[in-house]
Amino acid sequence: MIQSVAIVGGTHGNETSGIQLLRNWQKWGIPAQYGELSVACMLANDAAIQANVRFMDEDLNRQFTPARLSNESAAKEAVLARQLNQQLGPKGQSKTDLVIDIHNTTSAMGATLIILSADEFHVQMARYVKQHMPEANILLEDEKPVSEHGYLCTTGKRGVMIEVGGQPQGVLKEEVYQLTEALAHVLLGFCLAYNKGKTATLPECEVYRLGHEVSFPLEDNGQRSAMIHHKLQDADFAPLLAGQPVFKCFDGSEIVWEGESPTYPHFINEAAYARLHVAFATASLVTL
Ligand SMILES: [Zn+2]
Repeated sequence: MIQSVAIVGGTHGNETSGIQLLRNWQKWGIPAQYGELSVACMLANDAAIQANVRFMDEDLNRQFTPARLSNESAAKEAVLARQLNQQLGPKGQSKTDLVIDIHNTTSAMGATLIILSADEFHVQMARYVKQHMPEANILLEDEKPVSEHGYLCTTGKRGVMIEVGGQPQGVLKEEVYQLTEALAHVLLGFCLAYNKGKTATLPECEVYRLGHEVSFPLEDNGQRSAMIHHKLQDADFAPLLAGQPVFKCFDGSEIVWEGESPTYPHFINEAAYARLHVAFATASLVTL
């Protein structure tokens, strides 16, 4: 049974879709059809929102591992994470049945639902989302146990992320906002349907399962020797086959894909990962 739901925006202060949706729902109230649920709307990182930056000191959405929550770091987001964990969680003994954390990406990922587990609840959620919003992508990040993720949404008994793009940091695009709102509605609609036992027999669906990150090629001095190839740019979740170009080198040559074939690249050229030199992440297609 899903009773208490927390919808969070502004975990990253320059991802505007969730921030605006939450402000609108705080102003006008949660749509009436979800009255059976106890829905809390929350903006997570006010300081980062005011500054229109991803974070002040450290990435808030990496602070919620058991190790980080139990240390005494004075970094702004570490302090904030401990507060949010008390408010929403605490992680492992949570008072919140479901945390929905809303993000944007600069990558062309459309409306993507990120789930962290392929347990019965999240399988039903994935199937429901694909049935009600076929254009949505489902990304399964189950490479480690849910409890070991540092994501804010892991403070809930269950937690998922809405990730919508492509939208530049600090910018609000109508299409991206509408997709964000639509996916939030579908998730709340799922909660109602789940509580009524209506989601147990939905048809199977295909989801993308996170593989690994691929880095930009670097020279010995740490500078990049290539950029994302134009044929890969904005081709998030399109199948990438061995031999297809992934990088255009500044010397004019190309680097082709030599990994798993097909793979389903996503977070292609994501601005927030640029300082880490992450070019994209891979995924395989699995049926849930
Ligand atoms: Zn984010």
